[in-house]
Amino acid sequence: MSDSNKSEPKKLDKQIPNNVISISSGLCKADSCRSKALRAEFCDTHFTWFKDGLINKNGQKVPDFDKKHYAWEASHAAASKKKTA
Ligand SMILES: [Zn+2]
Repeated sequence: MSDSNKSEPKKLDKQIPNNVISISSGLCKADSCRSKALRAEFCDTHFTWFKDGLINKNGQKVPDFDKKHYAWEASHAAASKKKTA
């Protein structure tokens, strides 16, 4: 009696090129944003949001987004007011 003939899963010899680099879709990954991703998979605006903690790295709004967004808009409004002197 021989038990050596176990059924082996057939290995498919897939040819995976070494030079495949995982490229993102090229779009901003913030919720419902269709802008082109420019930095860290976010568009310009959402990258700022991410930096300022309005959204997490997955592009989802943080729990206190409303509060932060309010502060963010206020600070940006102040900044743009300065510009138009
Ligand atoms: Zn965006």
